[in-house]
Amino acid sequence: MTKIVVTPIAKRVFIKTYGCQMNVYDTARMFDVLAPHGFVATEDLQGADLVILNTCHIREKAAEKVYSELGTIRRLKAVKAGLGGRMIVAVAGCVAQAEGAEIMRRAPYVDLVVGPQSYHRLPELITRALQRGGAGILDTSFPVEPKFDYLPEAGASQGVTAFLTVQEGCNKFCSFCVVPYTRGAEYSRPVAQILAEARNFVRGGAREITLLGQNVNAYHGEGPDGREWRLGALIRGLAELPDLDRIRYTTSHPRDVDDELIAAHREVAKLMPFLHLPVQSGSDRILSLMNRRHSAADYRRIVDRFRSARPDLALSSDLIVGYPGETKDDFQATLDLVEEIGFAQAFSFKYSPRPGTPAASAPAQVPEKVKSERLAALQLLLTKQQREFNESCVGRVLRVLFEKPGRHEGQLVGRSPYLQGVHVAAEAALIGQIVPALISGASANSLAGSVVAPVLR
Ligand code: SF4
Repeated sequence: MTKIVVTPIAKRVFIKTYGCQMNVYDTARMFDVLAPHGFVATEDLQGADLVILNTCHIREKAAEKVYSELGTIRRLKAVKAGLGGRMIVAVAGCVAQAEGAEIMRRAPYVDLVVGPQSYHRLPELITRALQRGGAGILDTSFPVEPKFDYLPEAGASQGVTAFLTVQEGCNKFCSFCVVPYTRGAEYSRPVAQILAEARNFVRGGAREITLLGQNVNAYHGEGPDGREWRLGALIRGLAELPDLDRIRYTTSHPRDVDDELIAAHREVAKLMPFLHLPVQSGSDRILSLMNRRHSAADYRRIVDRFRSARPDLALSSDLIVGYPGETKDDFQATLDLVEEIGFAQAFSFKYSPRPGTPAASAPAQVPEKVKSERLAALQLLLTKQQREFNESCVGRVLRVLFEKPGRHEGQLVGRSPYLQGVHVAAEAALIGQIVPALISGASANSLAGSVVAPVLR
């Protein structure tokens, strides 16, 4: 008798990712969670059976952007229902965590709201949503069990460069930031789990791994030797993977920099000479109001130590202008610090209140016009520094990891050790290779060059 095998019809899932690299990583893991349940990824929103918005709460008006997107999805859901189909709509990520109940109230057609610590439960929550046929489900708890213990093995196909979350959450409570409320307390994944995931990414073709954490240098996980490994030890452990060529990490806090991390920059060749170390302000008064618990002088000292260990280190930072109470002198202190440190790149923002954070209700909010003027002045300086740093690379040979085709025919785009984008005319066969390139041109945002000697592996 012939055995009849019934192939389940694939369910199509569309995930839109907002915000930081941690959300990019989370989206990849959501696909990993859903794949064993018959879901396949689609880029076609209209044809999707499951739509997930993986949201970010860092930028201003983040929630409004989500509601606007949900308005479009609502119409598509109604069209699909009219044709006898069903579209499950889920909101995940930090807006879900911060505003879950409000989302259910304002957008009752949303089937599921799931916080960043609960997405390992997606299959179960989707089943419940289907059974309930309309009444939404809200899961924004911080489960006792770490979600990483319940996630399936990460898919290996992140590509040439992979993100790997090693730490989540934050105990710092900077007064402007929602992360401690949306991602919860600091949690570090065990070393063995991280090494296994890294090996998997490398098997899948990754040559560079960026370790992610809201506060990545607060990392402290149990090592295979039974001792606690901090980030420096983890970097050394990863550097032993033979086919992994480059390691990066982000985002760090000045207070969690330790000797071991600085030594890793001196001694581990695979650790790239680039550091994103937010300072936020150059004024001690504002740093104290922000609850950063470090001074501008502390920051300068830490940068000096990193630069002694790795003289060519390129620095990046986050800066906020117009924090409540910021005076002209405070802002000048920020300009002075930026001038003195010299950043290869930086992210700068006008302060904008996040509901529920202490700074949102602080008196002495700075007028919008003043914030705009200060941001323009700061960005002028930062752009100049970034351009100067890029121009200093002209005439040098940098090793470039090629990631993908460029916008022009016959062009590839890669990254220098300093995280600059590098455009080069080269064969697609070089994607995934680290190749010396002579840098011949620089703009504020990227470099151009030519391959010196392709080294094919
Ligand atoms: S250390 Fe970073 S993540 Fe933590 S509260 Fe401060 S800004 Fe937010």
